Amino acid sequence: MLSHAETKKGSLAIVGLGPGKREHMTARALKAVAGADYVLGHSSYLEPLEPLLTGKTVIASSMGKEVDRARQAIELARSHAVAIVSGGDPGVYGMAGIVIEVLEHSGELVDVEVIPGITAANAAASRAGSPLSGDFATISLSDLLTPLDVIEKRLDAFFSVGVPVVLYNPKSRGRPHNFALAIEHARKYLAGTTPVAIVKNALRDDEETIITTLMDIEASEEKVDMHTTVIIGGSESRIWRMGNNVKGIITPRGYHHKYVY
Ligand code: SAH
Repeated sequence: MLSHAETKKGSLAIVGLGPGKREHMTARALKAVAGADYVLGHSSYLEPLEPLLTGKTVIASSMGKEVDRARQAIELARSHAVAIVSGGDPGVYGMAGIVIEVLEHSGELVDVEVIPGITAANAAASRAGSPLSGDFATISLSDLLTPLDVIEKRLDAFFSVGVPVVLYNPKSRGRPHNFALAIEHARKYLAGTTPVAIVKNALRDDEETIITTLMDIEASEEKVDMHTTVIIGGSESRIWRMGNNVKGIITPRGYHHKYVY
């Protein structure tokens, strides 16, 4: 005779939590967490979910344990409703990639759903006007999983075509120099007047936004850390002012070529 656990059909939701607060999560993400028996994730992501977690088994883990977390989630999802949570969007430098890779390798048949969330690029852009109105690129400056020479080639490729570039993981104690290196690459292709947005803790209580330029960025460099997303404008980006205040960055999408306004 099969036990209840063995007969119950499991499911696996890979849930994007957005930038931090519950009001920026999707209804689908909230529903998936509410309906889960097990919730797995990094402890800093679980904190804002606290009120939703009563009665659930919560498995908090630390950064760098993503493969173990993915394995455990898949194992539990054989017979339980499991939500594995990821900050921002799970598909953007998040848990979806590793969970799906491990799942593929395991050969298990699991009911799996990726639930999108607001990624840091969107959260940061929303605090800085409209810097990403057209094409743009994102790059992570973390060389834990991507070799630094590959990162540098990509930076060159992106900056050389003049699109705005969003820097994820711009700086950490372990690699304090990658940010300065990225700025060096940007300066090869872009004017010193190119606007830059430094957005720390976007859409969280302690958020802070600095609008500066490529030539002045060193003055604000100490603000850049792992809770920060940096948007380096493209060749057409400019500072947006309202009265005497700097409000953000505008990257015109091209309407001015077709319309008068
Ligand atoms: N999956 C996440 C990204 C994980 S990589 C997402 O889609 O947003 C972690 C990096 O994301 C951080 O180092 C930082 O650069 C950026 N980030 C995440 N949340 C942020 C926030 N609220 N404000 C600013 N940057 C953030």
